Amino acid sequence: MASERNPFTIAKARIAKAAAALGLDAATTELLSTPQREVWVALPVKMDDGSTKIFQGFRVQYNTARGPAKGGIRWFPTETIDTVRALACWMTWKTSVVDIPLGGGKGGIICDPKALSTTEKERLARAYIRAIAPLIGITKDVPAPDVYTNGQIMAWMMDEYEKIQMECHPGVITGKPIEIGGSKGRGDATARGGIYTTRECAKAYGIDLKGKTCAIQGFGNAGQFAATLAEEILGMKVVAASDSKGGVYNPDGISAQELVDYKLKNGSLKGFPGAKEVTNEELLGLDVTVLFPAALENTITEENADSLKCQIICELANGPTTPEADKIIDAKGIHLIPDYLANAGGVTVSYFEQCQNAQNYYWELEDVQKRLDQKMTNAFKAVYEMSEEKKVSLREAAYLVAIKRVADAMKLRGWV
Ligand code: NAD
Repeated sequence: MASERNPFTIAKARIAKAAAALGLDAATTELLSTPQREVWVALPVKMDDGSTKIFQGFRVQYNTARGPAKGGIRWFPTETIDTVRALACWMTWKTSVVDIPLGGGKGGIICDPKALSTTEKERLARAYIRAIAPLIGITKDVPAPDVYTNGQIMAWMMDEYEKIQMECHPGVITGKPIEIGGSKGRGDATARGGIYTTRECAKAYGIDLKGKTCAIQGFGNAGQFAATLAEEILGMKVVAASDSKGGVYNPDGISAQELVDYKLKNGSLKGFPGAKEVTNEELLGLDVTVLFPAALENTITEENADSLKCQIICELANGPTTPEADKIIDAKGIHLIPDYLANAGGVTVSYFEQCQNAQNYYWELEDVQKRLDQKMTNAFKAVYEMSEEKKVSLREAAYLVAIKRVADAMKLRGWV
């Protein structure tokens, strides 16, 4: 992979910049830039046609100074160790910025899940856990779902681990179905966390959100919940939303729930009554108070950033803004809540799932939501204070807060 596009090279450049700003010494910077442990595993799986196929899997435990590694398992045809390593690094900052006592990890299997039957998926899930079982557990590393993995796959994985250990270990993995130890409130946790940070951001910069407008780019899991919760929690008016097939706009407001119901029934937003069509580019340039990018990476670029008219961007998607666009957004004075803070609600409720599994006592939905609010509010405040102190953007400040906490933990442990 060309080094300028290698995701881990980009991650290391970020660390170097933050380390310089924090005045970290060379050894600390080097350790922050180095994965603690990487495992490559070969996974022989009996296929339905009687043949045996060997799959390649990875698990990276990037840094455990603040606690056991935490991160999802991706099943992806073009998975690479560089991507898994960069995402494990990124998870280290994400758990740190929301101040949960976990480190960063990530796993991956090179496979095409769409070409696998249900029984083949189950055998692959179990094979992966057999291969990495000595390295995972509540005191070591707790995986979770990610791209193309889900609650059912987590259930098989937990079951395989428990068979190996010959005892119950629900906390070995999160994102499980509620019936076998999942947490209430996981479904909307990512969007809910983003909404809480948006509320805090508006407070910090003196922006009134009540009755004001928002637009949502990407109307899947994160985007749909962002729409209903923006109405419910922030009292905002949703005026536009889009998916891969196009968008709809009504300056007088669109009922978020009606839009969700329409999307679920029709598979797209096209033809939603009482709204006119907008392209994704037009949606980004709408005069709204808050913009929620909730689709893919690299959708806000130097080509369209100048057209932005919003006051706040809450990055629910991972990496929706390119570094060139970041500069334009800063210059325009738009407050951007960076992705790994804005969308950390999911991992926070995953951590709550671990806590409940350890207690063998399950919280009510209101408790989960209240604790999530506390974590996200505190996280935003820490990032905001850092940005004021160092006179940097919220994105830069989030890196400084997260990397400083990990560096402090390494120092206290005597690693550096
Ligand atoms: P999803 O697949 O449910 O939804 C994605 C949506 O984006 C779909 O509606 C799709 O039609 C739309 N889309 C695709 N291309 C688009 C385009 N060019 N313009 C506009 N819309 C487009 O995915 P999701 O789970 O909602 O995740 C969305 C983003 O949020 C991803 O970046 C993901 O990594 C991030 N995220 C999600 C979670 C979570 O818990 N769901 C957690 C952390 C981060």
